[in-house]
Amino acid sequence: MTSILLPRPDDWHLHLRDDEMLSAVAGYSAKRFRHALVMPNLRPPITSSADAAAYRARILDQVDEGSSFVPLMTLFASSELDLEDLRSGSESGVVKAVKFYPPGATTNSDQAKGSLGSLHELMEVLVELDMRLLVHAESTDPDVDVFDREAKFLDRQLAPVCERYPELKVTVEHVSTAAGVDFVNAHPQVVASVTPHHLARERGDLLASGMKPDLFCKPVINSASDRAALVAAATGGDSGFFLGTDSAPHTSTAKYAPTVAAGIFNAAYGLEVVAEVFHRAGAIDNLGAFVSVNGAAVYGYEPSDEQIRLTRVESRDVGESKLVTAIGDVVMFGVEEAAHWIVEPV
Ligand SMILES: [Zn+2]
Repeated sequence: MTSILLPRPDDWHLHLRDDEMLSAVAGYSAKRFRHALVMPNLRPPITSSADAAAYRARILDQVDEGSSFVPLMTLFASSELDLEDLRSGSESGVVKAVKFYPPGATTNSDQAKGSLGSLHELMEVLVELDMRLLVHAESTDPDVDVFDREAKFLDRQLAPVCERYPELKVTVEHVSTAAGVDFVNAHPQVVASVTPHHLARERGDLLASGMKPDLFCKPVINSASDRAALVAAATGGDSGFFLGTDSAPHTSTAKYAPTVAAGIFNAAYGLEVVAEVFHRAGAIDNLGAFVSVNGAAVYGYEPSDEQIRLTRVESRDVGESKLVTAIGDVVMFGVEEAAHWIVEPV
């Protein structure tokens, strides 16, 4: 029987939403993770340190007293960002990073203003503050095939920025392709978060036996060879790759609609999904690096002193497969994998 101890993991890419949805999902992340880097794509987005502090307070209101969970806040990159406010948010510790969304790429990204290459003053301030730029790497050029959007964005938009600002630290979020892995490996200033669903599923799962709205996310889950490249990067122990769940809840009404909302809720079982990927790859000894060590080092933390134990079992009754919220049900990703793992605090 496989049983391992790990430092309490961190989630370096998380969507908690707001209001009723925030109140329904926050506990799942707080139970599992030490830190979560919280994405700013609310409506309206989080664009100031005051917004970030207020959002952090709303998150902490939904977390059990005594929990050691720490939400780390991000601002939504835009040509309108107040750079003095960014400086003070960095100094006070309220703002951990800035997230760039290409206009129109994913949930609420229609609010983005300015291409990556146009945000020169922001890049200069990020370098000055030694603050990380988080990038949703998808070209929204209508001439680019949906499965090539990451590769094209990296090549056309991020590569020139890296060249111009070699001291800028960049995280490619939810890297989803072999091209993305290659880009990270070729750029010492770039690291990448990887999601449980991009590690565990491929586009055949999404499309081959009837379209599965619950597997639709952005960037879209890509080919089998892309998934193999992600698994190799994650399980190989390379310090440039680490867990960011990109847990992004939508109600079933939004998922089973003519235009399917992009996002997968995996805060409940994402860790089990990743454990199963590492187990099947024969790399369980590298799981701790991926979920508890590499990302922490990138964001300036030692691994947690708290520990969790993961034990693999033939099967167990998972129980919950659907989250019932005040605004509708949310399907939980990873029930299949969760049936093989018991996760408990030590
Ligand atoms: Zn995301």
